Formats: sequence, structure tokens, C-alpha cells
Amino acid sequence: MPSKREQIVRLRTENPIIRLTKMAEQIGVDKAYVHRVLKKADLPTRSILIAKKNIPKRIECKACGEDVIFSATRAERIHHIHDSCRYDYHRILVHCKFCRTPFRRRRHQLLSSKSKYIYCSKACLYKARKEEKSYELN
Ligand SMILES: [Zn+2]
Ligand SMILES: [Zn+2]
Repeated sequence: MPSKREQIVRLRTENPIIRLTKMAEQIGVDKAYVHRVLKKADLPTRSILIAKKNIPKRIECKACGEDVIFSATRAERIHHIHDSCRYDYHRILVHCKFCRTPFRRRRHQLLSSKSKYIYCSKACLYKARKEEKSYELN
């Protein structure tokens, strides 16, 4: 007959889901004892089902790919993006097709835009169209 200690260790290694209370009940010892034995054996004292609830899933920043850590702000965690990354992520640096001026355009505008090329202004768009037409004429 294995000792209580051995039984506890075996139970935990064979069953990561079982709760401390259940283990104590099954082996016929008190919870504190099970806890002590597991701690000493360097085994998890909590069921992985409980542990899972407490440890948040890893959140990855959609802009830089780094972890959004637990101490992050609420907004960072909800939107999966660092506060410091948000500006650049939503305002993408682009270059005007016509005058080559760099400027920022909102991501959702770029995504919903139907035109293939990006212009900084209507003026550039018209100038570009004019040029295109004159090419066609030649
Ligand atoms: Zn980031
Ligand atoms: Zn331009």
C-alpha cells in the first residue's frame, strides 16, 4: 500500500483536473495536507481547470506582435493593441501616387477604398487623371 504522500503525488500526476478538495476526500486526508505534499513535490496545487480561468490567455498586439501584458490598460486588452502602437496602426504611412508626399491615412479608409492608388488630395487625384488621359491621347 503506497503512503498517503505517494497517493497524492500519483493522483495529481495522473489527473491534472482533479480539485484539491476531491483529492483530500479520495485519499482521506485534509486539504491542507494535500496542499503541503503537492507544494513539496513541486506539483500544481490547483486543478488546471481552475488555473485556466485565472490565467488570461496570452494577448498579442496586432500591430507589433509583442505580448499585451496583464498590467496593460483595459483598452489595450480589449482591442489587442498597445496604446503606443495604436496611432501608427490606425494611421498608416503612405505616399501620394502623384506628388510622392508621405502622409497618414486611416486604416479603415485604406481598406474600404476601391481605388488602387492613393493620393494625398483631390487635387493630386485630378492631376494624375489628367496625366493619364494625356498619355492615352499620345
Ligand atoms: Zn504593440
Ligand atoms: Zn499628392
